[in-house]
Amino acid sequence: MEVITTRQALREYAARYSQRIGFVPTMGSLHEGHLSLVERAQAQNEKVVVSIFVNPTQFNDPEDFEKYPVAKAHDKELLERAGVDLLFMPSRDEIYSEGNPTIRIEYPHLMDKLCGAKRAGHFEGVLLIVHNLFMWLNPARAYFGLKDYQQFFLIQKMARDLEFTTEIVGCPLVREKDGLAMSSRNVRLSSAARQQAVGISQALFSSRSLFQKTQSVKAALDLLRQELARFEVEYATLSNAETLEILEEKTPLPKKILIAVAVVVDGVRLIDNVLVETTL
Ligand code: AMP
Repeated sequence: MEVITTRQALREYAARYSQRIGFVPTMGSLHEGHLSLVERAQAQNEKVVVSIFVNPTQFNDPEDFEKYPVAKAHDKELLERAGVDLLFMPSRDEIYSEGNPTIRIEYPHLMDKLCGAKRAGHFEGVLLIVHNLFMWLNPARAYFGLKDYQQFFLIQKMARDLEFTTEIVGCPLVREKDGLAMSSRNVRLSSAARQQAVGISQALFSSRSLFQKTQSVKAALDLLRQELARFEVEYATLSNAETLEILEEKTPLPKKILIAVAVVVDGVRLIDNVLVETTL
């Protein structure tokens, strides 16, 4: 595996392998969720490039940025073993050599809900870094986890609107055996909090089952909120998966529903979601 650290080297690699590259952008502290994206990329592309960059501009809380887990040696070893071709690991100065950017890519009515509601500037930071990485690397395909459904949705929209030729591939959410969504942040959970956190996916699964039986948004939402009552809930919603519109009791049922939550467990913010098709 080749390791590079500069944008220029990334551009040169892109010129050499253009349109044969599958790209997996990450913030490191890698786990099986990330590796599932790598595997998918390997199945569909000649070369696989992974980036690791804890992007400061997407953290609205400086303390959260400081506490974000970093595991460079572990990550390199994992990617080497997985057979990744190129790892891009830039420094903050390499990316933001001229200070924080002031240019913004915004979708106000898509960024003001779910994870965007309480994290001002988060998705603007995500879209700009992904935009720049796409500009430098111009991959044939880029892989994103549906765990961050809103992120996947916004990136797909940006890629279409800005006419990137990169195909955006959404990959299934990978869970621990007990159902907890894999996340780099899980290492920060105490063992008591780790046990408690299982309740998040359980609440989502119960809500999905009830929706499948009743086709009722209200019933599914009530149960979701009831089961999450012991958590500090940032949001717990049912949305139209194709528009992100939050569903209310009387909203006509869309084809596909996203049941999504963000909760804080022991000071650690965790997100999870499930998708469900309506049958009416
Ligand atoms: P992150 O390093 O958390 O920014 O994530 C990098 C990519 O991995 C994003 O596209 C995430 O959606 C994806 N990812 C993170 N956790 C999971 C998971 N449990 N299952 C599937 N994809 C994931």
